[in-house]
Amino acid sequence: ESFVDMNLCASIMKDIAFHGYTTPTSIQAQAMPVALSGRDLLGCAETGSGKTAAFTIPMIQHCLAQPPVRRGDGPLALVLAPTRELAQQIEKEVKAFGRSLDSFKTAIVVGGTNISEQRSELRAGVNIVVATPGRFIDHLQQGNTSLSRISFVVLDEADRMLDMGFELQIREVMQNLPEKHQTLLFSATMPVEIEELAQEYLTNPVRVKV
Ligand code: AMP
Repeated sequence: ESFVDMNLCASIMKDIAFHGYTTPTSIQAQAMPVALSGRDLLGCAETGSGKTAAFTIPMIQHCLAQPPVRRGDGPLALVLAPTRELAQQIEKEVKAFGRSLDSFKTAIVVGGTNISEQRSELRAGVNIVVATPGRFIDHLQQGNTSLSRISFVVLDEADRMLDMGFELQIREVMQNLPEKHQTLLFSATMPVEIEELAQEYLTNPVRVKV
């Protein structure tokens, strides 16, 4: 499988080339067609495998098929990640593959940063939010953002999020999403807690392992 065979929109293809990627990694070749088809995915992959682009590119393509985001609208897609550093890396890739798109906005919502700046960014309306679970829930509770328009969710490094004690926050999000949504769950390990989470929140997922 090559990027060309994936039916990606022209602007994303251009940004992939600009980013210097020519051939999909194994996780990309396996996961991207599944994600692009709209199905849920349970991916067993570690950092270094290229998993970030494997979910970022289908997420951007998904958002492009939605009506435009206006001021005050909640996001279309959400990525939850365990740490601020990982969230920043993910946001960088979202920006890289959304580079050629006009008015495509991303917010990063992590602890240890200015909450009121994040609030105005969120309220202005964004396509994609990349967040750590604790800070994202804070914003939800303060009414700064909402789950009402989210139709694409990624749980990245889910095993680490559980290890860090974010299970309740993850459940709070997953239980309150609109009915129609697609979920991608990535984890380096597949302990029983992850299997249970997947069982509960993923619908007939395709399993991919690298
Ligand atoms: P990740 O596992 O997402 O953290 O990615 C690991 C590293 O691989 C990052 O530095 C990416 O920029 C790089 N990478 C991901 N996909 C590709 C690709 N298809 N071709 C070349 N490098 C890639």
